[in-house]
Amino acid sequence: MKNKYWNENIERMSREDMRKLQGIRLKQTVERVYHDSPFYRKKMQELDITPDDINSIDDIVKLPFTTKYDLRDNYPFGMFTVPMSQIVRIHASSGTTGKPTVVGHTRRDLAMWAECMSRAIYAYGLDESDIFQVSYGYGLFTGGFGAHYGAENVGASVIPMSSGNTAKQITLMHDFGATALCCTPSYALYLADAIRDSGYPLEEFKLKAGVFGAEPWTENMRKDLERKLNIKAYNIYGLSEIAGPGVAFECECQDGSHVNEDHFYPEIVDPETLQPLPEGETGELVLTHLTKEGMPLLRYRTKDLTALRRGTCSCGRTLARIDRIMGRSDDMLIIRGVNVFPTQIESVMLEMPEFEPHYQLIVDRVNNTDTMELQVEVRPEFYTDEISKMMAMQKRLYARLQSVLGLSVNVRLVEPRSIERSTGKAKRVVDKRKL
Ligand code: ADP
Ligand code: ZN
Repeated sequence: MKNKYWNENIERMSREDMRKLQGIRLKQTVERVYHDSPFYRKKMQELDITPDDINSIDDIVKLPFTTKYDLRDNYPFGMFTVPMSQIVRIHASSGTTGKPTVVGHTRRDLAMWAECMSRAIYAYGLDESDIFQVSYGYGLFTGGFGAHYGAENVGASVIPMSSGNTAKQITLMHDFGATALCCTPSYALYLADAIRDSGYPLEEFKLKAGVFGAEPWTENMRKDLERKLNIKAYNIYGLSEIAGPGVAFECECQDGSHVNEDHFYPEIVDPETLQPLPEGETGELVLTHLTKEGMPLLRYRTKDLTALRRGTCSCGRTLARIDRIMGRSDDMLIIRGVNVFPTQIESVMLEMPEFEPHYQLIVDRVNNTDTMELQVEVRPEFYTDEISKMMAMQKRLYARLQSVLGLSVNVRLVEPRSIERSTGKAKRVVDKRKL
């Protein structure tokens, strides 16, 4: 019988052994940054701590946090802890404002990242017999390369498509018999529509799994994608500063994403007070590198909001799990005092069969009052010229949003295919208050 774990020793390690391993690796990392990173030495001196203060994983709370601003202040290579001659790859995240954040990887860092992605691939029930269509962008963005090297590492066949060129994506997916598709959930949706338009019957495709991530998405979006593409759709989580895709991955249980916690130690903190939160509570995910060479980060604040669970999963893995990311704290909209994430709106909207997961939120301020308009596409089978029917649909969605979120959102129903499609991360919010 096929082994369904890529690295069973680690993925099913007892909590006690894992904590020991994490403690040893944390100490090594702290020693490394104390000696090789002027930035961390200074931060640790300010807190009056030395590597001698770190003796188990519980001591992590003594360490300083790191933010995106620290990375920007040290642009471009100030956070690297090895000479440039040992750096074999440089990535950078786009960042919405200011300079990009730069990340450097040694050869061993890339092998570690591929290992993490390989565990994910096995957890999705995929292996060397699969054909991966990698439709994440290749470039400074980590999606393409991350999925690519992970799939090659397990011995699968890789089609390095990158994003865009949608018609060709469909032809090759069909002709080459791709069995796994790696891209953002919003691009997967776009591809699903394109398949429908292509004239190829869905049964002629060999696709069985989707490896979707790089942006927040909801359970309802998963159901939609699974139905439209006739696949199992799995979540993959990551960020360039830590490694790119493969930091955490779902298993067949689709009940939270397992964190590769022998490499990245996860904590959940209150984003205001930075105090650790009890297991199961939602807060900001903080990650610490345990094995990274090129640019180890201590307690990196991801801004991503989620909860952590350490219980053994039904798949047999003991690796801790994070819930779906609700959004980044930066994505939270405050509308007339009510806090709301685009994912909450997506979730409510997709409970109704009439709507497509193609939507945009237009936020503005009129006469000193915040306004929010949800533009959402009606599914072709529900779209009609009969105004009364459309109005009834709009009212139902309005009432649902009002009762679930406590917020009145102006709903504007738009024609199928009228909202701009994304080949990478979708732009869900247009905030005119900030323009
Ligand atoms: P950028 O900051 O330019 O978007 P990255 O490409 O590194 O840079 O994006 C990482 C971020 O993408 C994460 O911090 C998180 O907000 C989001 N993200 C990645 N994967 C997921 C996922 N599976 N679910 C929700 N959000 C995700
Ligand atoms: Zn599991």
